[in-house]
Amino acid sequence: MKKQVGQGRRTQEALRQSEERFRLLVAHALDAVITIDIQGRITSWNPQAERLFGWAQAEVLGRLLSETIIPPTYREAHERGLARFRATGEGPVLGRRIELTGLHRNGTEFPVELAITPMRSGKTVLFSAFLRDITEAKRAEEARRQSEASFRLLFTSNPLPMWVYDVATMAFLEVNAAAVAHYGYSREEFLAMRITDIRPPEEVPRLEAILTGFGAEADPAVRRHAGTWTHRLKDGRIREVDIVSHAIDFAGRRAALVVAIDVTELRQTQASLAKSTERLRILHEIDRALIAAEAPVAIAEAVLRRLRDLLGVPRAIVNLFDLATGEVEWLAAAGRRRIRLGPGVRFPLSLMGDVEALRRGEPQVIDVAALPRGPEAEALLASGVHTYMVVPMIAGGELIGGLSFGGAPGEFSPEQIGIAQEVAAQLAIALAQARLHERVKRQAEELEQRVQERTRELSTANEQLQREVAERQRAEADADRANRAKSEFLSRMSHELRTPLNAILGFAQLLELEVERPADRESVEQIAKGGRHLLTLINEILDIARIEAGQLPLSPEPVRVGDAIQRVLDLTRPLAATRRIELETGGAALHPEHVWADQQRLQQVLLNLVSNGIKYNRDAGRLTVACDAAEADRIRISVKDTGPGIAPALRERLFQPFDRLGAEQHGVEGTGLGLALSKRLVEAMGGTIGVESVPSAGSTFWVEFLRAESPIDRLARTEPSPAVLAAPAERDGTVLYIEDNLSNLRLVERTLALRPGVKLIPAMQGRLGLALAQQHRPDLILLDLHLPDISGEQVLRELQGDPGLRQTPVVVLSADATPGQIQRLLAAGVRAYLTKPLDVRQLLALLDEVLRTGGGA
Ligand code: ADP
Repeated sequence: MKKQVGQGRRTQEALRQSEERFRLLVAHALDAVITIDIQGRITSWNPQAERLFGWAQAEVLGRLLSETIIPPTYREAHERGLARFRATGEGPVLGRRIELTGLHRNGTEFPVELAITPMRSGKTVLFSAFLRDITEAKRAEEARRQSEASFRLLFTSNPLPMWVYDVATMAFLEVNAAAVAHYGYSREEFLAMRITDIRPPEEVPRLEAILTGFGAEADPAVRRHAGTWTHRLKDGRIREVDIVSHAIDFAGRRAALVVAIDVTELRQTQASLAKSTERLRILHEIDRALIAAEAPVAIAEAVLRRLRDLLGVPRAIVNLFDLATGEVEWLAAAGRRRIRLGPGVRFPLSLMGDVEALRRGEPQVIDVAALPRGPEAEALLASGVHTYMVVPMIAGGELIGGLSFGGAPGEFSPEQIGIAQEVAAQLAIALAQARLHERVKRQAEELEQRVQERTRELSTANEQLQREVAERQRAEADADRANRAKSEFLSRMSHELRTPLNAILGFAQLLELEVERPADRESVEQIAKGGRHLLTLINEILDIARIEAGQLPLSPEPVRVGDAIQRVLDLTRPLAATRRIELETGGAALHPEHVWADQQRLQQVLLNLVSNGIKYNRDAGRLTVACDAAEADRIRISVKDTGPGIAPALRERLFQPFDRLGAEQHGVEGTGLGLALSKRLVEAMGGTIGVESVPSAGSTFWVEFLRAESPIDRLARTEPSPAVLAAPAERDGTVLYIEDNLSNLRLVERTLALRPGVKLIPAMQGRLGLALAQQHRPDLILLDLHLPDISGEQVLRELQGDPGLRQTPVVVLSADATPGQIQRLLAAGVRAYLTKPLDVRQLLALLDEVLRTGGGA
């Protein structure tokens, strides 16, 4: 019994210990462990279950498990399973791991793994449920599934060729469709090949070197490889391929996943793009140098090295041709390493090939071996040049040089030729332009220099000229001053001399009346004669002085030749009579003609010539005053005597003042000034004077003046219609015309004939005019300013000083049309100033107005 008891106690103890172990096991189990009874009520609930479902053990004991941890939608199934087990003692879920959805106390659902085991203890059946949260496991599995799917997608459907190979054996393990399409092998073929089979043999050693250790390292940088490789397609074509490979684990093998990008076309395109960019850059460089007006050598330098590289040749040279000397000169040469610039290297043009062909633009290929043996060919071969091409440089149709390039023997590609031609053409333009620019610059500099020299010369000349001008101005001013002083002196002198002379002459005349003794009479006669001589002398000196000072007033107008001659002859007739000299006229046909001269001064000249012709004549000789038409519409008046004539040697001196050629010794009266004055007067009137003489037969002095239209003719030519000239109403009146020019007198006479009621009184001298004015009290006085005795202005002053005549309107008729003079006389009170040639209508209008208004206004 004791043993039994002891046995029972031991058994109980063992049971208790076993239960305790179980409890501890459950309490510390990793899974949630829940037990339920046959009704489904919770009988135990370990700490993991508390954590998993959020319920404490105390809260859930006795509760239905389905209500506690099964979401409502699954509860029914749970209940059904339990009921079936109750009825049959079996159920599909028992003893198996199943997945179902658990419900947390807070309402969230989550996947759980469940294993239910029935435990029989006597008659009681308990179920123990082991539950585990499988959210994480689920998520991980989903991720793996997705990653596998996307890997598949990336690999199989990738447009880039991809494959996986065994790093150890180099055998293909997998390929994608793009690889099959690109390389031309089927998948099966691929999988029977090694990666070395898609490469040309020369690439294999490099591949093997890279594969050694590939993927063995853990370092991701080493586990990846990228590079460019040459691959061979099934059809044998060679391609350039960019490769990226990653070390991967493939079904337990050390493998590599490869992505291959065929860059053959891309590389070709890039290369040709780079070439054409470089080509453009070279052309642009030439343009830039051209625009920057760089020197030829700088232009060549800017492009030569790049051109050499672009052409892919060791040497390129810009040669300039000197066609005249048959030589070529290097402008710039680019060798393998160096570039040589500037002139100095010259060689025969024959090294450039066929010059005529070059002219036509055809490039020349020269094989150095075919050149005649000589230093040049040796030098070329020595520097490694076997073949070279010369591309002509033509600018403006002119062959200026050649671009040569080459080196090793071989053909030149169309691309090289194209580039060289393009560059040569552009270079030719730039070089021609640069040369032109240099020439223009040189010329501009020369021109500049010449201009500077010329400017210097000019400024020197200018300074010289300025000095001369200043000197001349000074001299002129001096002369002017001297002249003014002289004429001032002369006019003073003449005044000072004339006053006592007038007294002498006056008293001499009185004495003449009183003395009776012949001896006294003779003395008085001498006094008078001396006085007259002095007076003439003074007058003539004064005239010359005035002419020389430009102060002699002249009033040129048409003068009737016949009148001038007649008047002179009338004046000299008494003198001629004393010598019994016969006076004659000739060329009377020309007497009605007019010459353009100052009436007074013409008279004075003719008077001088005629009196000389009498003075220096023989007694009872002859003097002829003739008229002839001369050249250039001139009229010549000549005075011919029968005197001793003048020796040719003396003629020069004739017109010199005070030179009497010895006449003073023959007792002939004279001053030696007559001819000198005459010459000056004639020339001042635009005429000429001269002499012809036959010694011992006589002399002929002549003057010539421009022919003038007579005022009468002019009137006839321009005469207005009678209607215009008709008097508005017949009125009587008297007009006094003070004028010494007969032609003018006649003209006015004829004009006034149109007014039959008007009487014209002519006066040919000023004093006479004044006397006639007082006597006749005319309605109008016409006044010439140039009168033989007193001046017209003097007449005007005296008229205005006479109370009886002050109101009489005076109209000046003058050839002098200077505005100053006209202004002055109008201001002095003249009614009108009519200039010659006379406007008849104007005169008649004035006359009509004066007669109508009764003058005086
Ligand atoms: P003047 O008669 O007062 O001496 P002129 O100037 O009129 O001065 O003449 C200069 C000189 O020319 C005269 O002195 C005279 O010797 C010479 N001469 C002038 N007219 C004649 C002439 N018709 N025949 C010869 N000699 C003349």
